[in-house]
Amino acid sequence: MKKPILNEAVMSRRDMLRGTLVVGCSLLLPLTIFSSPVMAAEAAAKKVSKKSVHYTGHATGEKKCGACANFIAESNTCKMVAGKVNPAGGCVLWVKKA
Ligand code: SF4
Repeated sequence: MKKPILNEAVMSRRDMLRGTLVVGCSLLLPLTIFSSPVMAAEAAAKKVSKKSVHYTGHATGEKKCGACANFIAESNTCKMVAGKVNPAGGCVLWVKKA
């Protein structure tokens, strides 16, 4: 008479549980780290408002966002100023690109 294969069934459930935990943790950990509203708020809070740095969407002369070291062309944003900025804009924080 053949014995029931209880150990194999238990191992299978354990393996399935471990797999579920590993997949769950690997999906949730990056989400927790990178999409935290608190972190996003902190990052936004470190930038200053456009008004406080006299930002204008159409700067005159060569001191334009497009030529500024703080300008991030991929997203039309600034390292220092909150919100989107225009490459033709400018503010008092302008720094020449190296
Ligand atoms: S610091 Fe001022 S000039 Fe430079 S990219 Fe930001 S908004 Fe534009």
